[in-house]
Amino acid sequence: MVLFEDQAYQPKILVIDDERRIREGCSKILKKEKCLVDVAGNGDVGLEMIAERHYDIVLTDLMMPGTGGMEVVSKVRERSPDTVVIVITGFATLEHSIEAMKNGAFDFIPKPFTPDQLRVVVSKALRMTRTLQDIATEKSRLKTIVNYLAGGILVTDKEKNIILYNPALLKMLGYEGNALNDKPLSDLTTDERLHTIINGILDLKEGEFRTLSAEIDPQGGEAASPSSQLFLRAQAVPFQSGSGEILGSVTIIDDITHLKLMDQMKSDFVSMVSHEIRSPLTTVLSQIKILLDGLAGELAAKQADILSRMSMKINGLVELSNELLDLSRIEAGLIVQDRKELQLVDILGELVQFFQPRAKEKNISLRLKKTNLPVISADPKNMEEVFSNLITNALIYTPEGGEITVTGEVKGDFVVINVTDNGYGIPTDEVTRIFERFYRSKTEKTRNIIGTGLGLPIVKSIVEAHNGTVNVKSKEGAGSTFYVRLPIKD
Ligand code: ADP
Repeated sequence: MVLFEDQAYQPKILVIDDERRIREGCSKILKKEKCLVDVAGNGDVGLEMIAERHYDIVLTDLMMPGTGGMEVVSKVRERSPDTVVIVITGFATLEHSIEAMKNGAFDFIPKPFTPDQLRVVVSKALRMTRTLQDIATEKSRLKTIVNYLAGGILVTDKEKNIILYNPALLKMLGYEGNALNDKPLSDLTTDERLHTIINGILDLKEGEFRTLSAEIDPQGGEAASPSSQLFLRAQAVPFQSGSGEILGSVTIIDDITHLKLMDQMKSDFVSMVSHEIRSPLTTVLSQIKILLDGLAGELAAKQADILSRMSMKINGLVELSNELLDLSRIEAGLIVQDRKELQLVDILGELVQFFQPRAKEKNISLRLKKTNLPVISADPKNMEEVFSNLITNALIYTPEGGEITVTGEVKGDFVVINVTDNGYGIPTDEVTRIFERFYRSKTEKTRNIIGTGLGLPIVKSIVEAHNGTVNVKSKEGAGSTFYVRLPIKD
């Protein structure tokens, strides 16, 4: 029989027995199987040898004068947990063998035994040691990977106790205290958003999988200076048993400070450029107007036509720079300054009134369905901008003869305003992208429409700055509904 498949592997085995016959017999049989075998005549010598070198397997007699096999089993478990112990025992001590196995012995072999019986037990134990070694290697590999990852790693069990973490995590969260193994998450951090996403993951139902992410602020808004401000992003997922039971959470934390700063620089740059472009453009516009009004002399029809077209294009550029400026202001958090108690229905009524002439030009019916809505706290100019953008879009992306309806309703703690049209609609695969900056969906029907792709990002930024959300449902060829949800009490 083959003891183990790996020919190059030489298992190290120690045989402890006070009977010389057994020691030498075992040694002879196992050496033939290419094992490295040492022998000890009593428990004390055996334990000394175990302290000096590592053995894959220890075969020990149970009943020996002095230190007995039971003590050997306990000491080996304590000092060398990846060594497997097999007890050798006479029939009379079968009960003790079972006791030894309860204490951590892997198996037992009753005396007298044949060479084959010994080989079977040792071969089984060797498979066990290889598995234990594989697990130990895997553990050490995982530990090295986790410790040297630049990102923070945090693993908790179902009760939110910490079971794994790495130095990067401690550094990011500024933790300098004691070791955290098996300690509650609150010992590491009290950051509410981190607790919220981890709770969310641990509350998932069996078999459910979700990623929850949040930006967290380890300094609690108290960075020493703006330049030392840290921005972290945490992403949490569950880990599950084979049957899908949630066993705990794994959270990865990335330092996104440099991305945030770059984004800030980009916004500042865009804001500066659009501001600088806008003034000369408006000057050019007013000068063209002087020419068109004939204040610098009569114009031929052709000249007036060219100047009108120039004026239209420049107007487009002014609009673009206005929108860019708006967006960077909103992103810098500057725009929601003037919150007031207001009645959205009033603003919507005025806007629907204001846009009637444009609707009539396209023979579109534009209506507001009157409803009683509660007062909300918002910046009136911002609200005007949101709904004028949505109504303008509806007018632009609806063909002649179409219908646009603005309605409002209360849903829980929110006011929801719907702007519905039966126009061109948006292709399904693009619906999620239209709130991105500069994104414009172009279909057969809409490709000639000019725009900046900034209207909806502005709408989204304003609504989110008011702690609301904006969504859209749309079907190409059938129309679109934009939903704006705003909290009644902020
Ligand atoms: P713009 O209208 O300047 O292109 P927006 O950000 O306002 O920029 O809109 C982005 C895109 O979303 C538009 O290009 C258009 O494709 C689509 N869109 C917006 N509103 C509607 C609507 N009511 N119906 C169909 N498509 C729309």
